[in-house]
Amino acid sequence: MTDTSLVFMRSLAAGRIEQEVLFPFPTLDPKEAETLGPVLESIDQLLGSRAEEFRKWDVEGKLPPEFLQEMREFGLFGLIIPEDQGGLAFGNLAYSRTLQQVARHDASVAVTIGAHSSIGMRGLKLYGTDAQKARWYGKLASGEMIAAFCLTEPGSGSDAASIKTTAVDAGDHWLLNGSKLWITNGGIADFFTVFAKTGEVDQKGKLSGFIVTKDMPGVSIGAPEDKMGIRASSTTMVFFENVKVPKENLLGPLNGGFKVAMNILNSGRSGVGGGTVGGMKKLIGLSSSYAMERKQFGQPIGTFGLIQQKIGHMVVDCYAAESAVTMVAALSDRGYEDYSIEAAIVKIFTSEALWRTVDEALQTAGGTGFMRELPYERMLRDCRVNRIWEGTNEVMRLFIALTALNDVGQGLREMSGSLKGIFNDPIKGFGVFYEYARRRANWATGLPAGKSSLSKAHVALRPQAEQFEDLVRSLAAMADRLLRKHGKDIVGKQFATRRLADVMIDLFVLACVISRVSSALEKKGTEGAQQELQIARVFAGQVQWCASSNFRKIDENDDELIQSLAKHAYERGGYSWDVL
Ligand SMILES: Cc1cc2nc3c(=O)[nH]c(=O)nc-3n(C[C@H](O)[C@H](O)[C@H](O)COP(=O)(O)OP(=O)(O)OC[C@H]3O[C@@H](n4cnc5c(N)ncnc54)[C@H](O)[C@@H]3O)c2cc1C
Repeated sequence: MTDTSLVFMRSLAAGRIEQEVLFPFPTLDPKEAETLGPVLESIDQLLGSRAEEFRKWDVEGKLPPEFLQEMREFGLFGLIIPEDQGGLAFGNLAYSRTLQQVARHDASVAVTIGAHSSIGMRGLKLYGTDAQKARWYGKLASGEMIAAFCLTEPGSGSDAASIKTTAVDAGDHWLLNGSKLWITNGGIADFFTVFAKTGEVDQKGKLSGFIVTKDMPGVSIGAPEDKMGIRASSTTMVFFENVKVPKENLLGPLNGGFKVAMNILNSGRSGVGGGTVGGMKKLIGLSSSYAMERKQFGQPIGTFGLIQQKIGHMVVDCYAAESAVTMVAALSDRGYEDYSIEAAIVKIFTSEALWRTVDEALQTAGGTGFMRELPYERMLRDCRVNRIWEGTNEVMRLFIALTALNDVGQGLREMSGSLKGIFNDPIKGFGVFYEYARRRANWATGLPAGKSSLSKAHVALRPQAEQFEDLVRSLAAMADRLLRKHGKDIVGKQFATRRLADVMIDLFVLACVISRVSSALEKKGTEGAQQELQIARVFAGQVQWCASSNFRKIDENDDELIQSLAKHAYERGGYSWDVL
């Protein structure tokens, strides 16, 4: 039986490799796969011939109502809702694969479906009571109601706990007041998952979730935002003025809304990942064809090394991203209790991989790529938001590193019996750290038994597995070193925590690639999985290079110089020099 309490990344920073979490590489449940095939085909039928319309809707800044109706009829709003309520009952893996297929055709359509299922109604699925589900599932499955997720406010973005919208207990109802900013599906939604303060006015973080419907008096919608990308998806403000929300519309525990919101975002992240992989696959197709068709200097540009370098890296990025998305979606489906770091990693890695891919695809197309007639520039605009929303990549990096360091700190506490003293005075705590470091040195020579190796990797991947094991030991040493160097102040050392997060991101994705290629090797043999083996080698090489650079920079870096230059720019209100 699977031990769903195991956590891969949280253990990794402490030097333990919980390989059973990632091996064997997940596959889709056969019953789900049977349903998924026809769904993917029908998506291609619905969207495949509409390239011109997607271009037009991008310029107009909306999806026409007739098209939304077609989406409803195709069942695109019922993907994660149980079958007996009219949905397709997809788990996260099948759901993310579906979004991938949609995103190959158009990002705005993928975002409309994603905002509905990944975040808009995800709270109902995760925290709804039976009565709430019975009341709304049917309408959400048919798309009669489209859902939106309302957390962000004008004064509250990354710092979600600082929202100002209030829900006051007024006896038989909640009185909701406030405004929400940049709400995806805002202009087409009827069902809103809204977060509001339910604690004392000066208390930060006491939030609760509520189900609010558009027909409630006092709910109003702002004008459509004029956006850089995903222009055909609806983004608006949503206002709540003395809205009487019935008591039974509380979603999840009272004052537990922050956790509810974070879990919704967590759970929805494989949706974003799926969409990004769809975009990458489309771009690789476009670039490969263009590279073979376009001739310069008497030969196809695809024969030039610098173009091959771009396309080869796109393939590696896409394979790595797809491996990580699949893994995290499966962790959620298998019921793992905490995969929040892994989900944050997927969000960061895939959004940045797609950004690199679209940039290089546009470059491969040269001036043609810059013209609006072809989809490159639109795809570049569309995908930029992925690094911003659902937790910016900066904030996600801090979350990854600080969660891991906190866990390592807990390990220290167990050893010393007093974490407080160490963090207050790292020098005084040196003896304990010394003991801890000694124990780590033991780990480096083979302890703890069974938890320091990636023995489930295929034998053909032994060099990459050993490289991974070495990097894990260095990661654990890095976490130790950072805590020893900065103690409690590590929280404010963002240059350092970013490096730790970057190593963790690379290591997780590498582990997913090794797991996937191992399964491919077992299934297809070394010949059949030759290219996948090459991908694993290239990706492992990249990881080694980046991680080594990050390890080196723990002690030797320009962090203070860079910080002082930023402060100088702040003081002067910008750049100070001119050659004149
Ligand atoms: C098109 C679009 C659709 C959206 N849809 C929704 C939606 O449906 N529902 C919803 O609730 N929200 C939605 N959002 C809001 C989105 O989630 C926020 O934009 C995001 O959380 C970031 O908040 P912010 O834009 O206020 O940036 P800020 O929080 O102001 O951040 C600005 C910059 O500072 C950095 N930063 C912030 N804090 C720190 C820190 N502690 N350390 C280091 N760097 C930091 C950020 O990374 C960023 O680079 C949407 C946004 C967009 C653009």
